[in-house]
Amino acid sequence: MTDSVLFRNGTVLTMDDRHTVLPNADVLVIDQRIAEVGVGLTAPEGATVIDATGGILMPGMIDTHRHMWQTAMRGYGADWTLTQYFVWYYLESGKLFRPEDIHAGNLLSALEALDAGVTTTVDWSHGLQTVEHADAAVDALQAVPGRFVLAYGNIQQGPWEWSATPEFRDFVSRRFTSGDDMLGFQMAFDVTGDPAFPEKAAFEVARELGVPVTTHAGVWGATNDDGIRLMHEHGFMTPQTIYVHSATLNQDSYHRIAATGGSVSVATESEQSAGQGYPPTWALRDHGIPVSLSQDTSVWWSADLFSAMRTTLGADRSREHMEAHRKAETVTHLHLRAEQVVDWATRGGSKALGMDSVVGSLEPGKKADVVLLKNDDSPAMFPILNPYGHVAFQAQRGDVHTVLVNGRIVKQDHKLVGADLAAAREKIGRTVEYLRATLGEEAWTRGMNPDVPETKVGENPYQYTEWDAGSAQWKH
Ligand SMILES: [Zn+2]
Repeated sequence: MTDSVLFRNGTVLTMDDRHTVLPNADVLVIDQRIAEVGVGLTAPEGATVIDATGGILMPGMIDTHRHMWQTAMRGYGADWTLTQYFVWYYLESGKLFRPEDIHAGNLLSALEALDAGVTTTVDWSHGLQTVEHADAAVDALQAVPGRFVLAYGNIQQGPWEWSATPEFRDFVSRRFTSGDDMLGFQMAFDVTGDPAFPEKAAFEVARELGVPVTTHAGVWGATNDDGIRLMHEHGFMTPQTIYVHSATLNQDSYHRIAATGGSVSVATESEQSAGQGYPPTWALRDHGIPVSLSQDTSVWWSADLFSAMRTTLGADRSREHMEAHRKAETVTHLHLRAEQVVDWATRGGSKALGMDSVVGSLEPGKKADVVLLKNDDSPAMFPILNPYGHVAFQAQRGDVHTVLVNGRIVKQDHKLVGADLAAAREKIGRTVEYLRATLGEEAWTRGMNPDVPETKVGENPYQYTEWDAGSAQWKH
């Protein structure tokens, strides 16, 4: 017995190597895989047929860096800088999170990702103070029918500490099976640049376990070129390494990343607000470094990659114009195209995760992670003239009509299928209540509302005027 889904008559962005776009085409999914992509396909008996007319079919999107546990505090840090984030999570309140709080954040975050058409998410899970926390994180990921990679971390200890414990080893062997493309594993930690390189022991554990490392690199005031150099000199930079942000690195560091085949996870929305450095796509281009996209944390931003694509185009183009204007030049042709950011949101992620033979494009034989963007009630969804431009600049979460993960329909007609939002809401409610009560009302409010620096309006050589409506004249 087979389970099949046929998407009928959409604009198909295959995201194959040639970026083939097929107008009025069908995508046939049988069981877990894409069986065929083409025009006028025959529906197998009993197939679920979904009318994609007027819509765009694309591969499920891939977020390569998200601190899912922090979704429990959704939007709380909207006005934070990176400094306030560090103080709140790393120094003061991150250790308050219990396993059930990690679970609640991950559960909500996982559901949110699917709703936005993000079918694979790297859970950069650096709040795992104990393996009980880690089990709670994985339980949540397994309760939601998305594809996830747990990137294990713990900001309350050095990575050389937590990775050396027998409990950690036991957790890895208990919860992960190599070759499971629904739940992958990485290690997540940062390299401070300390010349003693204490992180070496953790890299050795990763090497022994055969798992990739993901690291926040080139973060203003936190990680720098020394960290990259130490990793490189000790032979720990590999094609599987994902460097998050990499926004304040020098050319030498970019050369080391490029030469060892790693990739950068660009979190533009985060870099712009928090201050890790200018979003680096314009510099990565000059070094031929592969890019994937990420949304970082919902303590500021939501998890949809439409935001990532849009803001990455904006930041890259803004920089290109600014650099030209500085030299009294005019940019007449843009380097970064909408097509490229759609690639980064799909293929870029699958390549970064070593999953490019599994997901990332709509090609026969690949696992069926499929997104249909279609919204007949939206005036922003027609006409669709430039499909890549439409995905990057016009579409949004509400236009995600249907989502398949591994051949299974997880969202249909704009609604998640079988998701217990009431349970997720109740769990989050308990976590918020606990944190708020533990912190106390004053600290809770203060944490959310950092002081605003004074703004001084500069001197103006002209006289201020005011319009007098009564006499219809300027007052002086
Ligand atoms: Zn991060």
